[in-house]
Amino acid sequence: MPGSTINAAEPLALTRLKGVGPKLAEQLQRLHINSIADLLFHLPFRYEDRSRIVPIGSLQPGQSAVLQGAVRSADIVMGKRRSLLVKLHDNSGTLSLRFYHFSAAQKNQFKAGNLIRCYGEARRGASGLEIYHPEYHLLESGDEALPEACLTPVYPATEGISQPRLRQLMDQALDMLQAGELPMTDLLPLDWRARWRLPGLEETLLFLHRPPASVQQHQLASGQHPAQRRLILEELLAHQLSMQRLRAGIQAQGAPAIPPARELPAALLRGLPFTPTGAQQRVVAEIAVDLAKPLPMLRLVQGDVGSGKTLVAALAAAQVLEAGFQVALMAPTEILAEQHFVNLGRWFEPLGINCAWLGGKSRGKARTQSLEQISSGEARMIIGTHALFQQDVHFQRLGLVIIDEQHRFGVHQRLSLKEKGHLDGLAPHQLIMTATPIPRTLAMSAYAELDTSIIDELPPGRSPIQTVAIPDTRRPEVIMRVDNACREGAQAYWVCTLIEESEALQCQAAELTAQDLRESLPHLRIGLVHGRLKAAEKAAVMAAFKAHELDLLVATTVIEVGVDVPNSSLMIIENPERLGLAQLHQLRGRVGRGSVRSSCVLLYKTPLGFTSKQRLQVMRDSQDGFYIAEQDLMIRGPGEMLGTRQTGLQLLRVADLQRDADLIPMVREMAEQLWYQHRNQVDPLILRWLGDAERFAAV
Ligand code: ADP
Ligand code: MG
Repeated sequence: MPGSTINAAEPLALTRLKGVGPKLAEQLQRLHINSIADLLFHLPFRYEDRSRIVPIGSLQPGQSAVLQGAVRSADIVMGKRRSLLVKLHDNSGTLSLRFYHFSAAQKNQFKAGNLIRCYGEARRGASGLEIYHPEYHLLESGDEALPEACLTPVYPATEGISQPRLRQLMDQALDMLQAGELPMTDLLPLDWRARWRLPGLEETLLFLHRPPASVQQHQLASGQHPAQRRLILEELLAHQLSMQRLRAGIQAQGAPAIPPARELPAALLRGLPFTPTGAQQRVVAEIAVDLAKPLPMLRLVQGDVGSGKTLVAALAAAQVLEAGFQVALMAPTEILAEQHFVNLGRWFEPLGINCAWLGGKSRGKARTQSLEQISSGEARMIIGTHALFQQDVHFQRLGLVIIDEQHRFGVHQRLSLKEKGHLDGLAPHQLIMTATPIPRTLAMSAYAELDTSIIDELPPGRSPIQTVAIPDTRRPEVIMRVDNACREGAQAYWVCTLIEESEALQCQAAELTAQDLRESLPHLRIGLVHGRLKAAEKAAVMAAFKAHELDLLVATTVIEVGVDVPNSSLMIIENPERLGLAQLHQLRGRVGRGSVRSSCVLLYKTPLGFTSKQRLQVMRDSQDGFYIAEQDLMIRGPGEMLGTRQTGLQLLRVADLQRDADLIPMVREMAEQLWYQHRNQVDPLILRWLGDAERFAAV
């Protein structure tokens, strides 16, 4: 909204700065600078040292420096492109300045003997060390003043705003700050400065915009300077508090207290051929304690692929169902939701619990009937996709919402389901389950509003998966391998990946692959499943595969999450280099569920880039979801890992979750203190750092 925040009467209005009119203010807004305060928080991303003159003879390639020397010659040379080559010397050595764009007047400035001071990066060129298009000026004799007393900041900029312009605006703003003309307060309590050795806000900003030339450059470059650490802490704190506020908002509503179950969970377990693992029991107990409280539970259950999250969800559901409430379970894909519907139906229907289905493709009579059953309360356990969020879905008495595979849903989707549940002003409990292990540092910050339980044990009898990477030039060999495995009674998946292209292309690729494999392996029973099939078709193919009426299932990544066919022991993943590690780990988790030895073939396209090689190596090295996630974080960075729509964390301005992970415990402690002892600082702090982004996430 250009112009919307321009108001010169505002003490922080940008137009208070000399030279800022509506046009420049609008350009600044493109850098998310809407006020003088925002400007001061627009921090340099690096610094240049223009404080001392470097002897020409000591200059190294790649070094940026201020140089001073006399012109020896200035000639137009004809290389691949015509250029002006100016030779400069001091008493330590010689170097050339090269200009591809120059005027006649410029050429005339470089008279032999003239003294030049310039700044730029030295590179190896045709004439030895050269600087291309340096910033420079002629020195009058006797002009010995140094160019800068401080390091020169380099800011993130945008078209139309130059670095000198930004620096000049910043100088004005800093002067105003120092003169006490800006209503900007330090939002961190005074006693924290001594306790955590933090510089004050004004000192911090002055330092970061004008670091003295004597500062250790490497300390600044690695984000270790106390002034940087102070702002990093403040930013992480703002994020932490915003999530704490979100949580407080939800919990302010209250929830039905669900007493411990007496009968239903035990009855459920009696019908199963196995007993829960110790980890499952522990997590179920943790959930039971939450459910018994009159506050909405906000719990994240992390458990590696195959750790048995469904049973944990079912046991939690049983407690709520027994108390007479409805339970909604939402999964991110139709296939996964359908599978939950089938499995949970098989567990709960014999116990007299009515299950209902609501998918995105539910239409007409089926849909009307489901909606009626949901609102009348006839349906007790409701399973579906995000269709459960739709306006016309009304629950009769929703006590618990279970969200499977949380990483695919954004924060506000989670919240909007909460809105569904209101009964007499009470919110339902929320249980979120994810199979993508979130590295601890990220979990603490991205999911700070959630309590966490970890299922850290797999059910007994799982066999390790052997993973190999094979180039696509050896595809025929891989097809033979599928043939052999299936002849021996095993079942296999063949996963086609084509991410970032349209779903249509992806399905087409899977169709072609299936056709191709049917020709190569005519005696095998081959099925195909992809996102464009009708729900009923998809369900039929999955059921046939589960019943071993199919040997090989060709699929797109729709089978990524939750599909469970224990007899399948071989998985081929085509173009694995296109997928993230978490996704590969999910996919691979579809095998290794039975007692037979399983394997996974990563059929990659050659040549592989460095990062892809690293990632496939991680897959071969490990089957531990947490290790894989940590590696993923190291290779990709946190923003990508959490997905752009998930949290405000990719918007971090000064903090870097990997580099600054050691600060997280301190941030948590600070958040507690601020929340309970300085509550009035919380909102301004969130606003300062998250501004609009936070409002967006809380919609
Ligand atoms: P995930 O955590 O990946 O969602 P599932 O809930 O799909 O895992 O469980 C994977 C498989 O393990 C299913 O076939 C499930 O029935 C089985 N399972 C779950 N818990 C146990 C257990 N305690 N003992 C044996 N098998 C179990
Ligand atoms: Mg699952």
